Amino acid sequence: MKVTNPESSHDVAAHSGGSHLPIASPEGIPGEEFLEDARKILASGQLTNGAQVRRLEEVAAAYLEVPYCVAVSSCTAGLLLTLRALELRGEVILPSFTFHATAHGLLWNGLKPVFADCDEQTFCIDPEAVREKLSPTTAAILAVHIFGCPAAVDELEQISSSHGIPLICDAAHAFGSKVGTRRIGTYGAAEVFSLSPTKVLVAGEGGLVATRDRVLAQGLRAARNYGDVGDGDPQVLGLNARMSEFHAALGLCGFSGLEARIDRRNQIRLQYLRGLEGIPGLRFQEVPKGSRSTFKDMAVLVDPIAFGASRDWLVAFLQERGIEARRYFWPPVHRQKLYHRVWDRRPLPITDRVSNGILDLPIYSGLRDEDVSRVCEALLDAHRLAQQIRDSARAGAQDTETPARRPFAPMAAPRQGRV
Ligand SMILES: *Cc1c(COP(=O)(O)O)cnc(C)c1O
Repeated sequence: MKVTNPESSHDVAAHSGGSHLPIASPEGIPGEEFLEDARKILASGQLTNGAQVRRLEEVAAAYLEVPYCVAVSSCTAGLLLTLRALELRGEVILPSFTFHATAHGLLWNGLKPVFADCDEQTFCIDPEAVREKLSPTTAAILAVHIFGCPAAVDELEQISSSHGIPLICDAAHAFGSKVGTRRIGTYGAAEVFSLSPTKVLVAGEGGLVATRDRVLAQGLRAARNYGDVGDGDPQVLGLNARMSEFHAALGLCGFSGLEARIDRRNQIRLQYLRGLEGIPGLRFQEVPKGSRSTFKDMAVLVDPIAFGASRDWLVAFLQERGIEARRYFWPPVHRQKLYHRVWDRRPLPITDRVSNGILDLPIYSGLRDEDVSRVCEALLDAHRLAQQIRDSARAGAQDTETPARRPFAPMAAPRQGRV
């Protein structure tokens, strides 16, 4: 998926020292051998919700060490249908520092989102903030394993059981994450994974709901099929949220080499930590001791004062160097148009701070050591340039020569990245 045009790479190299580095690249994608699977599916005459989907559910359940896995068309649909199948009414506590789709299932179900602040270190929902937001009408807690870092699931399960409300996890980033030896996928009432192209296990499109609850699994199997269990007389309002056989077959291919890819992402993250260690004003997401993250994203928090420039300036600087960096998640959900009007106006200071400083750097298992070094060098150069600009501004330099003359529009809004 890399740009390897030898003609253009020379030009690009002159400016940036290499080819374009995307933020993410789809992983575990088969080659031509997939055409054999596709042929078999076509010959079987069953194009959706058939043998491949059942196999994917079995393989995923075995991997996650969870009794039931229900394949759906997306994580968004899985969350929406899980909330529906649990017949929730009232408020749901969730983080605002997440992808907006986490919250969409609530609005589709007429549930009220109540945002809780995140933890300064892990960027995941803070259990203490959840406790503060509990009310008599709280119907559930919806946690998110941000960038693959497990949320504080043990504590959240305690809160959930002592209040008699379900815990649901948006595990879109966390296929392969663990707390100790226990897999993400085994917590709460259900955990919902995404198999879309930027995630760790890729099916093109798709989602998986993992649950230990047999009745919920049955409900979801009906719900993904219009709510129809086969008698043409639905009891629950469902959707067509089935997974096609082709997507399931692609997802199955992704299991080979999955552990090695997650290990590689962990190595890349360590290389980033070492490479960026000396640069002031950069901080990293912390993963609790004993937990394993997939590092679906490599998140850096930029402190503009200590670093010398704003996060947005840095995004534009990296873009100039052919390095795609993204502000993910910004703006936080409570400041987005859809949610600003339902936000209860109680402040979320940590969410705002993290969201305003967040920057995601390229990470995918095919990223080479020298690519990581190149990104680290670019960040160091950016810091030095920012220092020079600041120093010469302090010295009252008015001239438009070096170095105060900026190499690009510092306020240029970076283009929105992919999901
Ligand atoms: C990608 C993502 C989703 C949505 O997943 P889809 O499979 O595309 O519906 C939900 N939540 C988070 C945190 C995500 O990153």
